[in-house]
Amino acid sequence: METRVRRELEGKRVLVVGLARSGRAAVDLLLSLGSKVVATDRKREVELALSLGDWRERGVELVFGEHPRGLMNGIDLVVTSPGVPLASPLLCEARDSGIPIIGELELAYSNSDAEWVAVTGTNGKTTTTTLIGELARSSGRRVAVGGNTGEAISGEIAGLPSDGLIVAEVSSFQLDTIETFRPHVGVLLNITEDHLDRYDSYEDYIAAKLRIFQNQTSDDYAVLNVDDELLNEAAYEIPGTVVPVSRFREVEGGVFVRDGQIVSRIGGGETEIMPVSELGLPGPHNVWNSLAALAAALLVDIDYVDASDVLRTFRSLEHRLEDVALIDGVRYVNDSKATNADSVRYALMSYDAPIIWIGGGRDKGSGFDILREQAGHGVREAIFIGEAAVKMKAALDGAVPVRLAGSLREALELARTMAEYGDVVLLSPACASFDMFEDFEDRGRRFKTEVTRLMNAAAASGGRENKA
Ligand code: ADP
Repeated sequence: METRVRRELEGKRVLVVGLARSGRAAVDLLLSLGSKVVATDRKREVELALSLGDWRERGVELVFGEHPRGLMNGIDLVVTSPGVPLASPLLCEARDSGIPIIGELELAYSNSDAEWVAVTGTNGKTTTTTLIGELARSSGRRVAVGGNTGEAISGEIAGLPSDGLIVAEVSSFQLDTIETFRPHVGVLLNITEDHLDRYDSYEDYIAAKLRIFQNQTSDDYAVLNVDDELLNEAAYEIPGTVVPVSRFREVEGGVFVRDGQIVSRIGGGETEIMPVSELGLPGPHNVWNSLAALAAALLVDIDYVDASDVLRTFRSLEHRLEDVALIDGVRYVNDSKATNADSVRYALMSYDAPIIWIGGGRDKGSGFDILREQAGHGVREAIFIGEAAVKMKAALDGAVPVRLAGSLREALELARTMAEYGDVVLLSPACASFDMFEDFEDRGRRFKTEVTRLMNAAAASGGRENKA
């Protein structure tokens, strides 16, 4: 096991930038380590809706709104949040003044003793992280799960024994600000174009994702989906021991599907785990997620029989291909979390029935052309909403019939009139939500509320038997 480099933080003056979930957890962790904390956020205090009494009592200096001159004076370390761009004036000033900058992930890592499993990728992080957490719990081991979504890891590490396990979802933004971060098992699911609004180029985004492995040695494991061509090539440059997973071919030392069976070659020999058809999660993309989660679990010594029980019963998380209702024989599915084209491509592959696809929202800068082929196969009608609607229509015209709608409610009304018995009405936006909603969760909840309204209306008009 590696020795973790601890940063001496007692008595040090540390500036925490960004006071959303991870920044707040960082403040609490730093206080417990005896640091003198200065905490700042661009937003005003009232907008943040924080209750700050405890922090004030414990001597935290709080700075809201525009940062004043001299904020960096006497600061020994800056801890930044993933939501703050590295090019922001405050972080530039810190760099120019020679003050070290780390992210909240690095802070949590360097102050924990437990074993780390970290998961990244463009899509599937939350699903796979949650699944690994469940797999690990099946062994009775003490497990903390968190990171990019859910709980911030800094808030989870206290009280976790050194034989405990941390399962962390890490985003490219969090990996931008690591230094010594070295997960014993790192999982990279896939890389496709996303977040081009925050990175200068696709190459920079790829480099950020691969940073998950940068401090590994051959004692650590790099679980890689080698069906992703880019990852297959990157395998040669990774210092950790590569554990490949594949849906399509037999791989040495990894986990793969052969004749419909999931097979593991981890730890020598070969073990048949279970039929792929018995996985609880739907869709081809979730086969990769399940294989990667299984590989990670086996590498931290989870029993494969216990693991297969969890893989059978684990279901889609909210807003990710979430079954909402069956109304007059039409299935309504909420995939609001699908904010890029690749996740939508897999959503469209996940159903044999014709799909009425509702997409659109705020464009994140990558194209929609990769959706033409799959939409041409599986989609009966597409309905687009939001800022990107016209651009998406232009990208898909000719491949599938496209309509535009002014709101989610209108889109659903339209979908209801178009859908035939056995069809799937799928919200899978390929866009961010911020043009019309607070976030993807708000969008998903609004979709579900509208579907409930349709169901009530169908019941009132004496429709067939429906169920939520
Ligand atoms: P993330 O945390 O990386 O955003 P989620 O598990 O929340 O990933 O899933 C986000 C979206 O991507 C959902 O719509 C989901 O159905 C889809 N998705 C999940 N796994 C994959 C994958 N391996 N490849 C492509 N899309 C995926």
